[in-house]
Amino acid sequence: MRTTAPLHGMYHLVMLTLDTDIVIFGGGIAGLWTLHHLRHLGYAALLLENGQLGDGQTLRSQGIIHGGMKYALSGILNAEAEAIAGMPERWRRALRGEGDIDLSGVRVLCDHHYMWSQSSLASRLTTFFGSKMLRGRIAQVHGDERPEALRDRAFKGSVYRLDDIVVDTHSLIETLAQRQKNHIYQISHHNCRIEADDQHRTRAIFITAAGTEPLRIHPRVVILAAGAGNRELLDDIGLTQQRMQLRPLHMVLMKHPQLPPLYAHCVGTSSKPRITITTHTTAAGETVWYLGGELAESGVERDARLQIDVAQREIHELFPWIDVRGAHWSTLRVDRAEPQQEQLVKPDHAYASWVGNNIICWPTKLALAPNLAEQISALLKEHQIEPLTPPPSPLPLPFPEIATPIWDRREPI
Ligand SMILES: Cc1cc2nc3c(=O)[nH]c(=O)nc-3n(C[C@H](O)[C@H](O)[C@H](O)COP(=O)(O)OP(=O)(O)OC[C@H]3O[C@@H](n4cnc5c(N)ncnc54)[C@H](O)[C@@H]3O)c2cc1C
Repeated sequence: MRTTAPLHGMYHLVMLTLDTDIVIFGGGIAGLWTLHHLRHLGYAALLLENGQLGDGQTLRSQGIIHGGMKYALSGILNAEAEAIAGMPERWRRALRGEGDIDLSGVRVLCDHHYMWSQSSLASRLTTFFGSKMLRGRIAQVHGDERPEALRDRAFKGSVYRLDDIVVDTHSLIETLAQRQKNHIYQISHHNCRIEADDQHRTRAIFITAAGTEPLRIHPRVVILAAGAGNRELLDDIGLTQQRMQLRPLHMVLMKHPQLPPLYAHCVGTSSKPRITITTHTTAAGETVWYLGGELAESGVERDARLQIDVAQREIHELFPWIDVRGAHWSTLRVDRAEPQQEQLVKPDHAYASWVGNNIICWPTKLALAPNLAEQISALLKEHQIEPLTPPPSPLPLPFPEIATPIWDRREPI
């Protein structure tokens, strides 16, 4: 780190100047996974977060590391869905501590996600999952092999075990952040200024945090991994032609002292899961069913009260044998941030694009974080960016807080 004294009005201001290979904006899964991946490859990389780590989509996600099976449901198990198929095994290796990313210590909530349908639709699933293409990635389960919530004698339908896993997103963020603690820094949008030239090349990042000397960072490459926050960063760099789309969701939380754990998609008549349920535990030991799927997509038009009414009806219809009296219900609105697609089509692979010396990215799914990081290192190679800069000395900036899990926040969420 160099100390320079540029003229600033009448005064000489001491400014710390730092060269680094890579600066990453955003400490959700995209930024944190990419930081690990690039540092493992030898790049001098640091991450800047302007809020709390994980406090975007990542800690609001259901944590399902899926292999694309739910897309196959629409009858289109295409090349894109095949591309995501390798993700559960990629994550399993990381969870075992093998390879470039060490996720040992991250809590796995469930080794397998499930898919079920009510009896009237069971034959649709049987025909579909009988296909040769899916063998080995899915298996029908019976009797006691079924998740507890689907074991009641009144249950009439079929249940399939998928190759997918479900991770606790808070322990995921915490593990990734703690393992790169010395390379992650807190900024705020108003104390950080990006200087870009008219070719949209980021020349410098200026940070003026209270109590420290102003800081100037010269990155060779900048990675915009700030989820919905990318919009503001793109404006700062003058990249207004890069479009982002927000896909709103209206999730429902059902909190109850005793609920059987369930990690499953319920298949209805549409090509999307009718409801997707994951189970989480609050710090006080209560169980939370976090409800997404079609319920959350169609629910964006409903206010919270109506959304809860619809969710209650769904739960009653699907689990008449579960007594949910006394449950506490709430809802959570959140947007998925993705690259602009025609007609808001759901993108099925991670997105990374090179402009100037910036990489603009959205993983589009938690599960696709490894795919995103690999796309980013491929882009660096393609643009002849090899690790060059020696590791920078620590910056005089604090380490950001890790956001609280949504189930432990005070209402309203
Ligand atoms: C309700 C819901 C459920 C989901 N469930 C699943 C699932 O089960 N499985 C799956 O694979 N995917 C799921 N997803 C998608 C997945 O959560 C996202 O694709 C993924 O978390 C996006 O990660 P990210 O790091 O790009 O963004 P985010 O998690 O949004 O992180 C962005 C980070 O950037 C920071 N930031 C913002 N602006 C700036 C700035 N100017 N400077 C510095 N930092 C900034 C934010 O504070 C935040 O920490 C779900 C999404 C939602 C909304």
